[in-house]
Amino acid sequence: MSLPDSKPSPGIAAWRCEFQHSADEQAFLRHHLATTHGQLRVTLVICTLVYLGFNITDIVWLGYSSQTALLAGVRVAVAIAAMGGILMLRRWPDSIGTTQLVASMAELAGGAGFLLITALRSEEFALHAISMAIIIIVFYIYIPNRLLYSAPIAALSTLGFVLLAAGLGNLRPVELGTIATMLALTNLFGYVAAARYQLLLRHEYTAQNVLKNLSVRDPLTGCYNRRYLHQQLLETEISRAQRYQLSLTVIMCDLDHFKLVNDRYGHHGGDAVLQHFARLMQALTRDGIDSVVRYGGEEFLLILPETDLAGGELLAQRLRLALSAQPIAYGDQEISATASFGVASINFAQCSSSAHTNMITAADDMLYAAKNSGRNRVCSRQLG
Ligand code: GH3
Ligand code: MG
Ligand code: MG
Repeated sequence: MSLPDSKPSPGIAAWRCEFQHSADEQAFLRHHLATTHGQLRVTLVICTLVYLGFNITDIVWLGYSSQTALLAGVRVAVAIAAMGGILMLRRWPDSIGTTQLVASMAELAGGAGFLLITALRSEEFALHAISMAIIIIVFYIYIPNRLLYSAPIAALSTLGFVLLAAGLGNLRPVELGTIATMLALTNLFGYVAAARYQLLLRHEYTAQNVLKNLSVRDPLTGCYNRRYLHQQLLETEISRAQRYQLSLTVIMCDLDHFKLVNDRYGHHGGDAVLQHFARLMQALTRDGIDSVVRYGGEEFLLILPETDLAGGELLAQRLRLALSAQPIAYGDQEISATASFGVASINFAQCSSSAHTNMITAADDMLYAAKNSGRNRVCSRQLG
């Protein structure tokens, strides 16, 4: 039998059904953490109630005896472990590791407790097999845990159950064989269902990310688009700089005489220059901190958090030199390009909170000052 019928994506490991790169997997788990927490809490409460409720069957089968008291003790111990898990989730709500630990602990305590109960009620192994099958499904599907942990816990619990049934169950070989086969199949189908679910979640997450990326980035250069700048980026960076009283610098840059590049090398040649310039800006800025936005046709805006005017000027000069120093390879031709830069900086520790409102306009003014004073240069202004 093949496993999940939807083939795993190249980035997803086949058997454990997790992203191959641990950074991707962590991002996915973090994205789902609140949901996973909620599911785990509800599962622990429901399973605990069922576990305790089944104490009635102990009384029905065994009456009131010391064995019933012992069974009640086992059930209460498992319930305490589950409640401990809920407290741990409350204490460390942001920890992915704690969530997985609590899920695994719950499975181990539930499995071990159940085996103890079956050993104490050894007359009814055929009936216990039904409960074991339900527990296997709960481990694989209902308790949100890594497949890498829940699969071995479910398989080991099954093995323990079959060994106990063989030792204490007083079953005929054909009965034992049937129970073992049924439980092995339950494990297999539980694994397949869990694997499909894990793959589905990851495919959905990947698709969401692709769509999100498409909606915030410019397809030609891969830079953020202007919509994202105005919807989120600028607001986020300005409020963060205001809150922590930091410097914030923006650079507006524009390729010089770009129309001539298009006229001489065609639109594709112009596109190659835009892509080269975008790669240069991505390479010379800080990954995950600075943002590069395609502001217009051949105009880009750089947003540089925690950067003062001198830092912004330095970066602009570096970019200017890097672009002008080396012609861009385009087929068997080379295209020379330069750009002009306008830098505007604000220090929120020293100026009024409304000084940022004309920040982009100020960078644009500086860009035009650079254009008017000969192009291929940097002009800058401190706001405040
Ligand atoms: P200046 O130095 O004053 O900035 O002159 P310029 O020629 O760069 O400026 P202008 O605004 O006159 O022309 C910009 C050109 O950029 C015109 C437009 O066709 C071109 N352009 C805009 N978007 C793209 C694009 O996506 N690809 C290509 N190849 N060209 C583009
Ligand atoms: Mg231009
Ligand atoms: Mg322009």
